[in-house]
Amino acid sequence: MKYNKNRLQNIDKKYIWHPFTQMKEWMNEDILIITHGRGNYIYDIDGNKYLDGVSSIWCNLHGHANRRINNALKRQIDKISHSTFLGLTNIPAILLAEKLVKILPAGLTRIFYSDNGSTAVEVAIKMAFQYWQNIGNTKRRKFISLNNGYHGDTLGAVSAGGIPLFHDVFKPLLFPTIKAPSPYCYRCELNLQYPSCKLACAERIDIIARENFDEIAGLILEPIVQAAGGFIVSPPGYLKRVREICSSHRILLIADEVATGFMRTGKLFAVNHEQVIPDIICLSKGLTSGYLPLAVTATGEEIFSAFLGRYEEFKTFFHGHTYTGNQLGSSAGIASLELLLKKNFIKGVEKKIHLFEKALQKLYELKHVGEIRQKGLMIGIELVKNRETKELYEPYERIGYRVCRDIRKYEIFLRPLGNVIVLMPPLSITEKEIKYLVDSLYKSIKFITEMDNASI
Ligand code: PLP
Repeated sequence: MKYNKNRLQNIDKKYIWHPFTQMKEWMNEDILIITHGRGNYIYDIDGNKYLDGVSSIWCNLHGHANRRINNALKRQIDKISHSTFLGLTNIPAILLAEKLVKILPAGLTRIFYSDNGSTAVEVAIKMAFQYWQNIGNTKRRKFISLNNGYHGDTLGAVSAGGIPLFHDVFKPLLFPTIKAPSPYCYRCELNLQYPSCKLACAERIDIIARENFDEIAGLILEPIVQAAGGFIVSPPGYLKRVREICSSHRILLIADEVATGFMRTGKLFAVNHEQVIPDIICLSKGLTSGYLPLAVTATGEEIFSAFLGRYEEFKTFFHGHTYTGNQLGSSAGIASLELLLKKNFIKGVEKKIHLFEKALQKLYELKHVGEIRQKGLMIGIELVKNRETKELYEPYERIGYRVCRDIRKYEIFLRPLGNVIVLMPPLSITEKEIKYLVDSLYKSIKFITEMDNASI
């Protein structure tokens, strides 16, 4: 069927409210209407193609319209799309759980399904909280979370968030969490330097735990990379030290791997970089390779068994969502995992990571590139007004936004985080595309930041 672009744009602008979008701007833009995707590209209604440089907000692993995942979905859709997980189970959800337990850090053997990253986090927080209640340790009610942390947009997840721009306005609605410093070495909150700091940001957690003796239920963080906070890569040893501190104070460590999971950081899970085993892990995004909303909160038998008892003891975890354990999502998850675990896949990803590492160095030639942060195929390039002083661009300068708009002329789609340009392509990106992506980014950053006055 032929669609009329103007008509569709008008309908969108008239009836739709887009997420994280200033709609006043949106309504004056020539908005891209995506019609289809193939491999690492998305195509718009005018026939333009764009390299999906942020894998459709960090979720696509194997490219669009992947034959293997498509076929798995086609097979499943002719059987059943969805039946409830409340009081029933189903084949794809069972098989996906089995596959996940095999690859998750040892001991994470219980899979609780939900639908998206935020719900995975809500589940984790409630699970940790009720665990302590169920075992009679009712004083443990507080949570520690990190500055610059992002865990989703539902209120529990926002309570654990630490990005003032997104979270401050909702403060009156939130439950308080105790904030620990962000492991953000480039702009250290504690004005220290790694390694002479001796991981003071982690040690701060130890102090918080002592100050709140026996009252902390859990600590939630994004292991290795704080994603929405600006692709902040924690210094070596940080995560391991946090694990030690949590263990010594009996604090449950919740690893939010919604963004980092499934090889994004170069390992299947980011916690693997420091051989850390969390008490609870949250997964979504890459779980279905960006095909369908599905999420997992996984934990071990110790936490799980605290919820066992006679019905009338009310130890049950009274939490669930309509689409929990959805068959289509689970089928996509199985197919995606099979691709991920194929022989030599990891080697291929490692090669791409090195290629990026090498190619990205050239960006330091540009005087407004403050820091390039890379862990695996998660890359953040922080632009600064002045490299010596690390002076920030002002919000009205829209520096990240303008670079990402400019790079569209090279058939690349990116979405920034403020002044940080994000590269997080599908794992299936090719070597040629990596080179093209970085070369184009070089040109766009140069063009936008070194334009006569770099003003808007
Ligand atoms: N946790 C992390 C680390 C995330 O990066 C995100 C989303 O970007 C979420 C949770 C929330 O996921 P969702 O947008 O699927 O609710």
